[in-house]
Amino acid sequence: MKVFKFGGASVNTIDRIKNVKDIISLYANEKLVIIISAMGKTTNALEKVVEAFYAGNKEEALQLFTVIKNQHVTTAKYLLVTHYNACYEQLNNFFTEVEWLLHDKPVREFDYYYDQVVCVGELLSTCIVSYYLNEAGVANKWIDVRDIIRTDDNFRDANIDWTYTEEKVKTMVHGLWSMDDILLTQGFIGSTDENESTTLGREGSDYTAAVFANLLNAESQTIWKDVEGVMSADPKQFPDAQLMPELSFDEVIEMAYYGAQVIHPKTIKPLQNKGIPLHVKCFLDPSLPGTVISKKQVKHLPPVVIIKEKQVLMHLHSQDFSFVGEKPMSELYKILGELNIKPNLIQTGAISLQLCLDDRAEKTEHLATAVNAIFDVQLERNLSLLTIRHFNNELLMKMTSGKQVILKQQTPETVQVLYR
Ligand code: ASP
Repeated sequence: MKVFKFGGASVNTIDRIKNVKDIISLYANEKLVIIISAMGKTTNALEKVVEAFYAGNKEEALQLFTVIKNQHVTTAKYLLVTHYNACYEQLNNFFTEVEWLLHDKPVREFDYYYDQVVCVGELLSTCIVSYYLNEAGVANKWIDVRDIIRTDDNFRDANIDWTYTEEKVKTMVHGLWSMDDILLTQGFIGSTDENESTTLGREGSDYTAAVFANLLNAESQTIWKDVEGVMSADPKQFPDAQLMPELSFDEVIEMAYYGAQVIHPKTIKPLQNKGIPLHVKCFLDPSLPGTVISKKQVKHLPPVVIIKEKQVLMHLHSQDFSFVGEKPMSELYKILGELNIKPNLIQTGAISLQLCLDDRAEKTEHLATAVNAIFDVQLERNLSLLTIRHFNNELLMKMTSGKQVILKQQTPETVQVLYR
């Protein structure tokens, strides 16, 4: 069996949804688990809904949500004839769930509401595509993945309960395959044991696909994207970015760790652990070879460039001029663990240290408050973090010229530069 994941760009127009059908039709008679993201930029649009709701702007939240509703209903209308009513009914159930919540006042933390609202993007898109495929003769079974993927309640970055999920995958998926070869479901979302929706981090549906691939011992996983394969830099920013036809799991996990947007960082482990190859292919032309990621080591890679914007640098200074030794460091790591914060760079000195983080306002504030008991804290915002793997000095000079460099870290393989 194979696992496919189609990203949001592959279902953002009527023609592209039809194209997904054509690609799936190339794999007739194979058992497939297909994961489809929210359409286009729906996740971003849903984020705006939660932000408005949490800021107390109920009317604005409802209005923004109505735009999303209308877009999905219009798409369903264009695609469906015989199955339209059934599809509309199911879409309406998802709409109602969100609208109920938006009518309340927020009393819990932001991340909880984020997950309850944002998860609907994947439910709407998979619902429409599943009805469309069935109407077009590609028989498939739609699954609410929240019945399978059980997580903890670490909202927005939930952790999977592998034991429960494995049991569910084995009982549900195999049972359903006896009726339909194609199972169509969502990535990125899950549910707690109290039936609260959770999300696994942006771009998390690659990871969900890998969880299915691992638990079902898939022969391969394919991520269908709007690029030729894995590129050495973002082609929108760097037109001379190169396609890398082969990569090792080790290389990709490093790239993801440093923030490359290619694949969700958690995706590789479940595949590597079972030696399942990951294909990244272009949905615009499925005949192109794309990139294969596997256990095989690959030499002579081009420089790989990754830029993370919206970084915050936290300067931590010892309060009484004592060394930043193992005690304050272990306390700091404990706090980072509790707040689920992963610094992108740490630089230690005698009586100070610096942490570079993604600037997620609420988390940054929590961290600053918590470490204030041990250190004097200063924040510097709006920074960019450049990482180059397999770098050469010429490229490094070119990319940092005219920038005000604040921090630099270098190994033989990788250089990281934080700049204003
Ligand atoms: N729709 C989610 C996002 O845009 C998850 C995904 O597509 O992987 O991040």
